[in-house]
Amino acid sequence: MAEERQQEIVQNIQDVRAAIATVPHKENARLVAVSKLKPVEDLQYAYDAGQRHFGENYVQELVEKSAKMPQDIAWHFIGHLQSNKCKLVAAIPNLFVVETIDSIKKADAMNKACVSCERAKPLRVFVQVNTSREEAKGGVAPEQCSDVCKHIVQHCPQLELGGLMTIGMFGRDPSIDNPDFLCLADCKKTADEVLGKGSDLELSMGMSADYLQALQAGATNVRVGTTIFGARPKKP
Ligand SMILES: *Cc1c(COP(=O)(O)O)cnc(C)c1O
Repeated sequence: MAEERQQEIVQNIQDVRAAIATVPHKENARLVAVSKLKPVEDLQYAYDAGQRHFGENYVQELVEKSAKMPQDIAWHFIGHLQSNKCKLVAAIPNLFVVETIDSIKKADAMNKACVSCERAKPLRVFVQVNTSREEAKGGVAPEQCSDVCKHIVQHCPQLELGGLMTIGMFGRDPSIDNPDFLCLADCKKTADEVLGKGSDLELSMGMSADYLQALQAGATNVRVGTTIFGARPKKP
């Protein structure tokens, strides 16, 4: 059983990597294995297959898994972030990035949390943009994106602005250009201009259903869960 599960995950990762390698100029794109609600055994199989970037959505789960797993993992927090949980997240030494900064207030809270955790280096963050303008989705409105970016660069010395992130609408027509990806690329263009000094923000977009399309649209970071680990149980 365990061996079959391992083979399945290893094969899935190889398939995703091979697919990414077919996209021109995207051989250096970062694959984040989204492992929420999956047991550490599954993550360990992926790790043994060379996977180092993992994404988690729930603070408690991230805290527990990061304590159990090897310390050279680069963790991505990709879930909704509550201000009162910032300290727990900031205290994880091998946290690579918080992808879900969705307001100036949240940036300030994260900055403050980093001061008290005495992180060795500024913490990398992405600004989440609600490109589909869905009420249920987190993120700043596209027209507010550069203001939040500017605030982080100018007023949050414990943070290092690394890029922009979107989840986008589910079930977009794959035969046409994805409006969410176009919107995030547009936000990057504006923000890079506003920030100046050779700013080149990353784009975190694309999940199991559309990561290849996202790479073609300029993604540097794709977040793939189901295609690697299979369907998830419902969140309790
Ligand atoms: C769950 C999740 C993913 C992975 O989605 P899949 O469709 O399973 O690949 C990616 N990004 C975010 C923010 C998520 O919450």
